[in-house]
Amino acid sequence: MTRPATGTSDDSDAMDRRCGECSLCCTVLRVDEIAKLGGTTCQHVQSGGGCGIHADRPGICRAYQCMWLRGKFREEDRPDRLQAVLDLVPAGETVRLSIRQAVPGVFDASPRLQEIAAEFREHTAVRVTDVSAVLNPDHPFRVLLPDGVEQRVEGDRVTTLRDGVEVGTTRIAWPQRWIRWGLLRWRGAQLRRIGSR
Ligand code: SF4
Ligand code: SF4
Repeated sequence: MTRPATGTSDDSDAMDRRCGECSLCCTVLRVDEIAKLGGTTCQHVQSGGGCGIHADRPGICRAYQCMWLRGKFREEDRPDRLQAVLDLVPAGETVRLSIRQAVPGVFDASPRLQEIAAEFREHTAVRVTDVSAVLNPDHPFRVLLPDGVEQRVEGDRVTTLRDGVEVGTTRIAWPQRWIRWGLLRWRGAQLRRIGSR
């Protein structure tokens, strides 16, 4: 069965949702306006949740709502409980599910995250990353695809697995790799410049 790309069988009413004690996106996401790197906890996070500069918070903080806050998944799947922030992000002409782990290894240790990924991967690529080394262009990530296919990317090496068994290895083409390196190095330089102000 093909499900809508933005929904799962566990969607609920977004009006019921409040961030409450969760402030995980304030650690996981990057906020250029306040020189905050992804993976570092914002200096304005309050103990117990909430923003210390709520009235003056950056525009991106005002606009951002994770999928859970928008009413996706189960009530108990709040990101601070899953230790991962989930979003649908553009990927060419389609979207992919982004699972950003607050800590490496969370995905492999979480049956619930794996259940969500299994539901999405049949119709939407699922990218699993963590925020432990956001300025490293070679930091590994995984892409989960239909039919048990998974790509593990590290540097220029792409290892393809099917049902957990390695079936092949390729290299990212140099032009594509240079573009990736260039973009990430530019982003890193930009963030370091912002951070040094
Ligand atoms: S991760 Fe989602 S629920 Fe948690 S603070 Fe951010 S928007 Fe709110
Ligand atoms: S400014 Fe406020 S809303 Fe934005 S990341 Fe920091 S604590 Fe979160």
